[in-house]
Amino acid sequence: MVIVFCEQREGTLKKVSFEALLAGYKIAEKKQDELTAVVLGKDISSIAREIVKFGVNKVITVDDPALEFYTPDGYGSVLEKLAREHKPHAVILSATALGKDLAATLAARLETVLLPDCTAIDFDEEGNVVATRPIYAGKALATVKAPGVMPLVISLRPRAVGAQGELNRNGQIVAAQLTPEDLRMKVAEIVKTVTKTVELTEADIVISGGRGMKGPENYALLEELAAVINAAVGASRAAVDAGWRDHQFQVGQTGKVVAPSLYIACGISGAIQHLVGMINSKCIVAINKDPEANIFKVADYGIVGDLFQVVPLLTEEFKKIKQG
Ligand SMILES: Cc1cc2nc3c(=O)[nH]c(=O)nc-3n(C[C@H](O)[C@H](O)[C@H](O)COP(=O)(O)OP(=O)(O)OC[C@H]3O[C@@H](n4cnc5c(N)ncnc54)[C@H](O)[C@@H]3O)c2cc1C
Repeated sequence: MVIVFCEQREGTLKKVSFEALLAGYKIAEKKQDELTAVVLGKDISSIAREIVKFGVNKVITVDDPALEFYTPDGYGSVLEKLAREHKPHAVILSATALGKDLAATLAARLETVLLPDCTAIDFDEEGNVVATRPIYAGKALATVKAPGVMPLVISLRPRAVGAQGELNRNGQIVAAQLTPEDLRMKVAEIVKTVTKTVELTEADIVISGGRGMKGPENYALLEELAAVINAAVGASRAAVDAGWRDHQFQVGQTGKVVAPSLYIACGISGAIQHLVGMINSKCIVAINKDPEANIFKVADYGIVGDLFQVVPLLTEEFKKIKQG
């Protein structure tokens, strides 16, 4: 069996789960084994149906009020029990904030190998899983394997493998009664930041602003453009450290890693710690008034100019295109 942990938040399946399912399917095909998805939470039956439709052999659900909110304690204990019972070849998770935390917890609980933040899955001649993962802040790619280790815990970098297509397995939903016992962690309250923009790591277009934005009030320019082209708004660490944007929007080594179809960097110089968070974007556009800025070395399209003039022009042009 190959287990894929499918992440949901407030009753909505995260898109990255389909990427994890595709990676899991690749391993299941190679090992000629069953592909099983696992969903944990409260009131998750519609999510389970969505995953069965995608094409897996089995969806194991643990529908329990104790699992309504993620805790490494609760989710870790349930996944550990499932892994010990089913002895899978691998457990695959998405390397989201939750997935990274859970993958490490699970690997520690199972005393097994964790291959974190992988960008590709392949096999060697003996059929062992060989994973690719960026190291040294993305300067090199390591290929890693752990022959004979079961289960491997693998976390997959969002948007690295893509989520095209459906799988061809006919599945069923199995409800497991696995109330986690002796939970030491309980979520008392969730305080949400109100944000109207798309989630950064799932967005198809990301517009980020750096120190060149000059102040928090000017992010309204980026938000206006984002609203027109359905983008998420990110930031460099300089902008986050200045208190202009919340850390959840930071792109880079100590922020989030994104790989959208289009990344627009506004007033960002292109320090390596920023590049590592967006270098895998399909198309990079940089707007900077300094023609020597490092960001132009990685940009597919560069606009040398003042972002306070260029961004409003782009917004107007995209509006016109949208209106036909
Ligand atoms: C351990 C470590 C981890 C780090 N992690 C991260 C990380 O996760 N993410 C991250 O981003 N950084 C990270 N950094 C910081 C990184 O090294 C840089 O300091 C940071 O990315 C710089 O941000 P910036 O490009 O916005 O600012 P700057 O380097 O100051 O660049 C501002 C740019 O704006 C341009 N500009 C100014 N005005 C305008 C205008 N009107 N129109 C157009 N362009 C204009 C300038 O020409 C300049 O190129 C990390 C550093 C360390 C040491």
